[in-house]
Amino acid sequence: MDLIRCIHAAGIVGCGGAGFPTDQKLCGKFRYLIANGAECEPLLRTDRYLMREKAPEIVRIMAALAEFLQVECCVIALKDHYHAELAALRKAVAESGADVKIFELQNFYPAGDEQMIVREVTGEIVPPTKIPAAVGAVVDNISTIYAIGEAMEGKTFTHKYLTVTGEVAHPVVLRVPIGTSLQACIDLAGGATCRNPYIMTGGPLMGKHVAPEAMDTAVVTKTTSGILVLPEGCANESRDRVSVEAMMHRAKAACIQCTSCTQMCPRHMLGHPIEPHRIMRKMALGGDITEMLSDPIVQSAQMCCECGVCEVFACPMGLQPRRINGLLKKELGKARIRCQIPEQEYTANPEREARKVPSRRIAARDGVAKYYDYEITDLISAEQDTVRIPLQMHIGAPCVPCVAAGDHVTAGQLIAAPAEGALGANIHASIDGVVKSVDSTIVISKN
Ligand code: SF4
Ligand code: SF4
Repeated sequence: MDLIRCIHAAGIVGCGGAGFPTDQKLCGKFRYLIANGAECEPLLRTDRYLMREKAPEIVRIMAALAEFLQVECCVIALKDHYHAELAALRKAVAESGADVKIFELQNFYPAGDEQMIVREVTGEIVPPTKIPAAVGAVVDNISTIYAIGEAMEGKTFTHKYLTVTGEVAHPVVLRVPIGTSLQACIDLAGGATCRNPYIMTGGPLMGKHVAPEAMDTAVVTKTTSGILVLPEGCANESRDRVSVEAMMHRAKAACIQCTSCTQMCPRHMLGHPIEPHRIMRKMALGGDITEMLSDPIVQSAQMCCECGVCEVFACPMGLQPRRINGLLKKELGKARIRCQIPEQEYTANPEREARKVPSRRIAARDGVAKYYDYEITDLISAEQDTVRIPLQMHIGAPCVPCVAAGDHVTAGQLIAAPAEGALGANIHASIDGVVKSVDSTIVISKN
């Protein structure tokens, strides 16, 4: 089977992002293949674990993928302070003789943003709102590369590596079946060490809050890169508590138009014409949001990657340009409006190097510095008796189930697939067992 069909059959999606199907992403002609080992969310350690412990496999997979895609340049990019990981990868490259380059990134946030990593590795700037393929690059994170390697061996995407950290007894990297409950993962990390924890999936800067009432059904999906347990009243919770109305009111009352959000914006520094302070000014003027959507300044919110530098690091008034941009992006999407991007060559701001935000400093501003310096050396691999597997873990439409309640399934068996012609990724049973129910999730239990 050709590699793209193999990846499609395995149901692989980007492991840390929005869940774009990997087989679709790899269809095309590329000059650069980049493995993203930046793991730029400050507290996550999953990709670092894989680069350290599975370096020969990762180098082998990258070499095979590079040969299949016929790229000119195959690169693994990781931070310059990941000493053990750099040593392991360099040793693996030397021993295998593979034509895989190791690229050292500075420790800034968001070094792992695809647009940033392409600029760092190739020197090219991906035009605003475009993907790296626009400059002949394809970027996959390390967990995704590792999953591709398993697909090459005929395995389907049934298990997930993820970090559990923050206010837990033992921060840990886990390997668990997709559909494992978040609470089970937290228990594997020794449990929460604070009362009323604020729980997020992903990292502290771009992760998503999981409400306490959702914890009963919240599970590890194909895109869950980590679970973060933070204390009650943490900075993320304080920002979340501000209602949309209050956020708009604050923008009107307190934005001093200092332009700090624009000057520190990583996308603006790449030369993209996004200026969050101007978006804030428009919002401060008030009015009906749907009427504002025709304004090109409001439309420029689509160039925002929602990294959070503006609100966590730059704004001296505690305002939330990122959240406002996220809101505008949703409204623009609903109205099917795309911002007009001038066809031109984009050049980075000459001050970009000086304005890169050190990861440690943004972690401190976000109130998570105490979890920043820790090493995770061990992996806990834990099977489960029950899993709840969502039918939507990818961009596109939910998958269509091909099993029913009462069916016996085995781990790796196809249980749902995208509808004919729809964007999506196959879903497989992650444990042996009996299908208990099928609705928006498929519940499988061993007994
Ligand atoms: S979240 Fe803020 S800093 Fe990040 S890209 Fe968007 S506007 Fe720029
Ligand atoms: S940094 Fe804050 S106060 Fe300054 S322009 Fe941006 S939103 Fe307004």
